Amino acid sequence: MQRAHQILKNTFGYSEFRNNQADIIQAILNGQDAFTLMPTGGGKSLCYQIPALVRDGVGVVISPLIALMQDQVDALRQLGIRAAFLNSTQDRFSQQQTEQDLLDGKLDLLYVAPERLMTERMLSLLNQTQVALFAIDEAHCVSQWGHDFRKEYQQLSILHERYPDVPRIALTATADQRTRTEIIEQLHLEQATLFVNSFDRPNIHYAVSEGQNAKEQLWRFIEREHPQDAGIIYCLSRKKTESIAQWLSAKGRTALPYHAGLPSNMRQQHQERFLREEQVIIVATIAFGMGIDKPDVRFVAHLNLPKSIEAYYQETGRAGRDGEPANAWMAYGLQDVITLRQMMQDGDAEEQFKRIALQKLEAMLGLCELISCRRQSLLAYFGEALAKPCGNCDNCTHPPQTWDGSVSAQKALSTVYRTGQRFGVNYIIDVLSGKDDDRIRSNRHDQISTYGIGNEHTGVEWRSIFRQLIAQGYLNVDVDGYGALKLTEKCRPVLRGEQTLQLRKITKPEKVKKEKGARKQHDLRSIDEPLFEALRTLRLSLAQEQGVPPYVIFHDTTLTEMTRTRPTTEETLRYISGVGEQKLKHYGQQFLEEIAKYPLPELLDNNLSDTVNETLMLQQQGKDAETIAQVRNLKPSTIYVHLAEAVADGRLNAREVLPLDDAQYAEIVNTLEMLDAEMDGPLKPTYEALDGKYDYGILRCVLAGL
Ligand SMILES: [Zn+2]
Repeated sequence: MQRAHQILKNTFGYSEFRNNQADIIQAILNGQDAFTLMPTGGGKSLCYQIPALVRDGVGVVISPLIALMQDQVDALRQLGIRAAFLNSTQDRFSQQQTEQDLLDGKLDLLYVAPERLMTERMLSLLNQTQVALFAIDEAHCVSQWGHDFRKEYQQLSILHERYPDVPRIALTATADQRTRTEIIEQLHLEQATLFVNSFDRPNIHYAVSEGQNAKEQLWRFIEREHPQDAGIIYCLSRKKTESIAQWLSAKGRTALPYHAGLPSNMRQQHQERFLREEQVIIVATIAFGMGIDKPDVRFVAHLNLPKSIEAYYQETGRAGRDGEPANAWMAYGLQDVITLRQMMQDGDAEEQFKRIALQKLEAMLGLCELISCRRQSLLAYFGEALAKPCGNCDNCTHPPQTWDGSVSAQKALSTVYRTGQRFGVNYIIDVLSGKDDDRIRSNRHDQISTYGIGNEHTGVEWRSIFRQLIAQGYLNVDVDGYGALKLTEKCRPVLRGEQTLQLRKITKPEKVKKEKGARKQHDLRSIDEPLFEALRTLRLSLAQEQGVPPYVIFHDTTLTEMTRTRPTTEETLRYISGVGEQKLKHYGQQFLEEIAKYPLPELLDNNLSDTVNETLMLQQQGKDAETIAQVRNLKPSTIYVHLAEAVADGRLNAREVLPLDDAQYAEIVNTLEMLDAEMDGPLKPTYEALDGKYDYGILRCVLAGL
């Protein structure tokens, strides 16, 4: 285990193991099998990479993600690890080269596609090689019920039979109870130790909104929160991915479509650009993203409802793998529910499959219509309890308002009933609104008692009501009957007035209001941004020289830490997370030189909070407290409190920064001294003794300087 720690520090540049990495590695080093459930970004790959380096022989990694093997191998080689891959994208020569290296014992890690592993040729190669371990990545692909099912995965049980002494580790970032059991059975992992990490991704902010003007809402969201970030937007249809990508491009963003219908070289090219350039947005169907390793995807947006909570969790999980703040945003509407149900009913899957699929969709809808903390509910779905509301989802930060929708629900439900449960939402709303319409007249629905009794709501509001009634199971959409609404058993008490129904109010589009630093990019002070950008540029040019994605050189988190701490020597650079021996040797000097070009003004080289420094920076530019207050949209007294902190820290002279003449200053000093005012004591006596002539903040500043 000591060797494992050394490798972690020297090769990978991290000082500590995260989550239960250490326990997992220990198990493999002891020759045991392991089954690891770890969320994306939790540090899954270290769990097999380090034991593969400690144990004799080569670690064989089975992964379905052929397109990404090159990048994974590149990233390992950057660290000085002898890694290679075998899959169908290679030419004959490089395959032979890799096979020879394998036989010569020159590899630490070998990535193989499952279909390749199962060939006799591959198995016989392995018979001639010492294997350190088998790592089965994306193990949920073994599940028939999952959307990533791969037939070859079910044959992987052969590893257990052929190589009983080689430890196996199965890993996945997504698995509900049903899938877990299936993985254990199919892969014969009954003897494996199960390691379950929390599925919580605390850095991801979850938000779901109604689908009115979803496109405009999306644009506002991107413009407000991610003007310079990479992100993924998921749509249900191929056509929509293309039109959204075009629309975003016209707005000046680099946005590329990705779906199974595009020529494979174009798909490849778009994926490549997403990985290798900065600020690229991919607009995709679910065909995109499995195993995408890009750590700095800052947002994942859904323009449609995902099919299940697993899918939602997995797709949103592609944001913020580096642990920095990220957003999961969704807009969905009534039509999504109807379309998805239709797709599920129409498929030629077995009945049991359809039923499970529908249940999963219901659960997803429940999450969308929730009025309490979304993270609690999301984690509960994976069997995990979160004691308190998270404070980092839309329902926590802007609790939704509810209203007593009982009467409106009664009107809606009884109109469905009185029109014979044969019509879709739009028709029912027309009846409720008393629309003058031929079809309604010929059906004689202008004669029923609920005709025109719904004028208290607009069409948009009625749609929201119907969506909630469907989501909560009061109405079914009969997809065979062209979307006709049908009542369910659950309706009775509502119709009889025995049950009240709380509905969610439609939220007005959010006002463009910056939340204080909450989701600011990379949490850097604005004084640090030029250096951060310079380091990004340096990283990009190094990456382009070598034809690798920028994050393979350094993650954003590493650049952020460099920016904050501004190391000046290799010794101090070594302490930054993500800087191992190999990278220090290759890039250390260049990054140190770049950092040296951005010296921090003495005043700002301190340990004060970011907001204080923000004020100091403006003060440095010669602005007075009133002006700074205006610029920062804060109260002047807050600005004085910031200045007071800098005064107390010995960085500013109170006499110089306050708008006071000598007599005023002396008056305050005398009063403070006379009343024995203390820094952490109340200032009210002083304030009153001076007849309220001076702001509390000013008093605090003077006091800080005494
Ligand atoms: Zn929450």
